[in-house]
Amino acid sequence: MEKGLLVIISGPSGAGKGTIYQKVIERTDMKRSVSVTTRKPREGEVEGVNYYFRTEEEYQQMIASGEFLETAEVYKNYYGTPKAPVFANLEKGNDVLFEVDVHGARSIKKKYPEAVAIFVMTPDFETLKKRLIDRGTETADSLKTRLSAAKSELAQYKLFDYIVFNDELEVAVNEVIDIITAEKRKTKNNLEKINELLDNQK
Ligand code: 5GP
Repeated sequence: MEKGLLVIISGPSGAGKGTIYQKVIERTDMKRSVSVTTRKPREGEVEGVNYYFRTEEEYQQMIASGEFLETAEVYKNYYGTPKAPVFANLEKGNDVLFEVDVHGARSIKKKYPEAVAIFVMTPDFETLKKRLIDRGTETADSLKTRLSAAKSELAQYKLFDYIVFNDELEVAVNEVIDIITAEKRKTKNNLEKINELLDNQK
């Protein structure tokens, strides 16, 4: 069985990576990696679907027992990826899609260099600002923090294998799906199949 692909979608908050992630999950066979967070649920968010919502104490216990592939503090809350379900899926040949911040992308790449990392960005910073304002979840202060964070996140572009400019959502979603398809078709990701064909040809 060929191992699954681990794909990371990352980028500044407001660039639309969450929406793209959701659409890619709906339109492909990719499995979602559900993160654990200490942040309070937003309206409409569902336990076990969007996140596993935990108290800070519960979260610290999970860190102590080594349950995370990576964990990060993002805007005063903790976010982490539980290790076990990810590797179980990859071994079963399932492709797993992650939506994490740039720190998360860096730690996952470090532990799992075969991961494919995609950076999602708006066409420019003005658009990013507008989207953050329209989203209505930011105070003036957090807007400023997120905009300056966006710049330093983009500066870490070398960490990423691909960049997708999210101008038109549909175009961006298709680009991400195309990237995943191309990665799946790389010969190095099909060695078992290739060798099987060669063996049967004797
Ligand atoms: P939000 O609170 O808006 O859902 O997410 C805030 C930020 O945390 C986003 O940039 C999101 O990608 C990131 N995030 C979500 N889950 C994880 C995770 O498991 N690990 C890391 N490092 N970041 C995460």
